[in-house]
Amino acid sequence: PEPEPDPEPEPDPEPEPEPDPVPEPEPEPDPEPEPEPEPDPEPEPEPDPEPDPEPEPDSEPDPEPEPEPEPDPELEPDPEPDPEPDPEPEPDPEPKIEFDKDNSADVRSNKEKLDSGLRKTKDSFFGKLARTVAGKSKIDESILDDIEEVLITSDIGVETTIKIIERLEERVERDKYINASELNNFLKEEVSSLMQDTNQSNIFNKPSPYVIMVVGVNGVGKTTTIGKLANFYKKNGKSVFLGAADTFRAAAIDQLVIWSERVGVQIIKQEMGSDPASVCFDTLESAKANQADVVIIDTAGRLHNKVNLMNELTKMKNVMKKIVPDAPHEVMLILDASTGQNAIEQASQFTAATDVDTITLTKLDGSAKGGVVIGISDQFKIPVSFIGVGEGVSDLQPFEKNEFIDSLFS
Ligand code: GDP
Ligand code: GDP
Ligand code: MG
Repeated sequence: PEPEPDPEPEPDPEPEPEPDPVPEPEPEPDPEPEPEPEPDPEPEPEPDPEPDPEPEPDSEPDPEPEPEPEPDPELEPDPEPDPEPDPEPEPDPEPKIEFDKDNSADVRSNKEKLDSGLRKTKDSFFGKLARTVAGKSKIDESILDDIEEVLITSDIGVETTIKIIERLEERVERDKYINASELNNFLKEEVSSLMQDTNQSNIFNKPSPYVIMVVGVNGVGKTTTIGKLANFYKKNGKSVFLGAADTFRAAAIDQLVIWSERVGVQIIKQEMGSDPASVCFDTLESAKANQADVVIIDTAGRLHNKVNLMNELTKMKNVMKKIVPDAPHEVMLILDASTGQNAIEQASQFTAATDVDTITLTKLDGSAKGGVVIGISDQFKIPVSFIGVGEGVSDLQPFEKNEFIDSLFS
């Protein structure tokens, strides 16, 4: 049973072409989920705009590994401009049915979303593989180079591809050759052994308040992911506070306010331009006073090589510690999977510049570059905690390696 060649281009839920999540600087128009800038029902008056702006003198030895001074190694602009701008609108994020109560239905709907989200990746990967081995009754050394190319162009990443090819070489050398279906199983096993194990059972076993600080470059999906995460925790019985510490643009604050209303969680904000560290302070203070379970802090998009902005992260963390000594418990790096190699590049540069505890990959839906999850899971010893599979409030799933691989190879 050999891999099928591209089943015709499905009416895949294709999000509108993204405003290229490339580096900074201009105040891009922030694609709002909805336009109504609400009247801001602030949960608390919080005065107190400046809670010690400067990082405490007694703060521990700067955890930040000096952002290296190299001259702007621009994350190279997306290699290819992703040609498929399928116009189909998502079935619409809003009216999606929430299967809160019924777990089995929930699981099934997650699986369907994952399967359909990975379809393009699958078609592209197995399509290329099928063309490579077409007409070959056996896989021998002569086509290893072609298989290597398939892996590389599937966004698995060079490092991870090399590991897989080395093991495939050993296997072929030992057995002389393998057939096409053995190749499939071999790849599945290798991918599984390279990817980090996931253990999502501890998602809810956390200190309280559990503080998550969300970081990444502009446009990767930070704010949207925060909305979905808030929904995820709330649906699971947690009280959630959001902190609007992306104070750089008014639209960023409005966008988070809209999410907080949609999901029905508290948000703490100040006006545009205020000190993000001050917003963190207010948020944690309020969350603590209200015995919140989970706090999620939005931050402005930033590049690892902007020293000021990386210092700003450090300052935010230090201010949080004044209220919750071990906050932030989790620094979550958001990466846009649809940017393929660019996402791997961002991961390596961000993790070099600051501590990152977990990675969430967004926009897996409708992208052919889902293979990037494999490379990221292999190369960075950082767990992939969630994946985004759409723009709707429930389009976020805890990442499970085995489900992912099964979906990819099914
Ligand atoms: P430079 O432009 O190379 O001097 O680097 P900066 O760090 O000063 O600014 C780079 C970009 O980051 C700016 O164009 C803004 O988009 C953004 N930026 C600048 N200052 C701040 C800040 O204090 N907070 C946030 N969140 N963003 C900033
Ligand atoms: P931020 O600048 O990092 O805060 O990014 P935003 O949260 O504003 O998201 C940028 C765009 O990406 C928005 O149009 C979101 O709807 C979209 N987006 C975020 N996550 C996903 C996802 O998982 N799938 C799709 N298709 N779009 C997403
Ligand atoms: Mg944002």
